[in-house]
Amino acid sequence: MILILKKDVKEEGLNAILERIANAGLKPHISKGEERIIIGLLGDSRAKEKEYWETVPGIERVVRVLKPFKLASREFKKEDTVVDVDGVKIGGKSIVIMAGPCSVESKKQIIEIAKVVKKYGGKILRGGAFKPRTSPYSFRGLGVEGLKYLAAAKKETGLPIVTEAMSIEQVKIVSEYADIIQIGARNMQNFSLLEAVGKTKKPVLLKRGMSAKIEELLLAAEYILSNGNPNVMLCERGIRTFDTSTRNTLDISAVPLLKSITHLPVIVDPSHSTGKRALVTPASLAAIAAGTDGLIIEVHTNPEKALSDGMQSLYPEQFKLLVEKGRKVSAAIGRTIL
Ligand code: PEP
Ligand code: MN
Repeated sequence: MILILKKDVKEEGLNAILERIANAGLKPHISKGEERIIIGLLGDSRAKEKEYWETVPGIERVVRVLKPFKLASREFKKEDTVVDVDGVKIGGKSIVIMAGPCSVESKKQIIEIAKVVKKYGGKILRGGAFKPRTSPYSFRGLGVEGLKYLAAAKKETGLPIVTEAMSIEQVKIVSEYADIIQIGARNMQNFSLLEAVGKTKKPVLLKRGMSAKIEELLLAAEYILSNGNPNVMLCERGIRTFDTSTRNTLDISAVPLLKSITHLPVIVDPSHSTGKRALVTPASLAAIAAGTDGLIIEVHTNPEKALSDGMQSLYPEQFKLLVEKGRKVSAAIGRTIL
């Protein structure tokens, strides 16, 4: 349930409403807009019906949110959420490109790739320092050293950083270096980790689990939002299907569907969803046409030697072309690439 308060509600009136909410065994989620206050009721809202709240002084309107996700829903917030990452606005009119290697491999490597990303139109640098790998014997990232190299690349290029935190213990150190904390597909339903990033105010890129339904993705986002962090971006990165000809199956319909039911920005990862370099550009163009707010793309200056995901990493020239074509598709749908 969402309570929309009257414009002239004073502090006393608000406190009285909050007391009623507490007495009903519910938790309030307060959003103070420019004009009025909106309160989301979290918990079992059957405790008190819509009609009850409509009679409470100071409340102008009550909206029942039928969906299981509340704070993430369009009913709760009509306008698109725009996440501000160090001045780069994600979720607005412009489409934002994030790019970089799968893993940070050395200081030289990440700085070299960061320069390519910047030169060809990327606005955010990606690079994993803590890597979730299927096999424990694969390269699992440089850890804190990798974060330091990302900081060096940021210093050199000015590009903000997106990088993954895999566990609660890593959240603190990752938030010191990252401008966006990535929650990987394998951790989408690691609820304690979601709560931990929810307690920070850092922007979060929440990747869809490989077998997760859209509703489960939004409920995962709800864990972050309900812990006080409104800066959540959702990422479609492909899901597991019966087909093994691509690494995953890009669920392109997830983009317009998500845009219709949530106000949160939607990002597409054409690299992990296809797993094949040749498919990354077409998938990116489709994602732009479908209404994505951004792309996160793997780019490498020497993909053959990459320590992870070389097969799906673009060569610098391919990345350049992707952005050029992307600009044309964006223009065709009345948007621009930032
Ligand atoms: C990644 O972005 O490097 C990654 C591991 O992605 P995902 O969690 O989507 O597999
Ligand atoms: Mn990767």
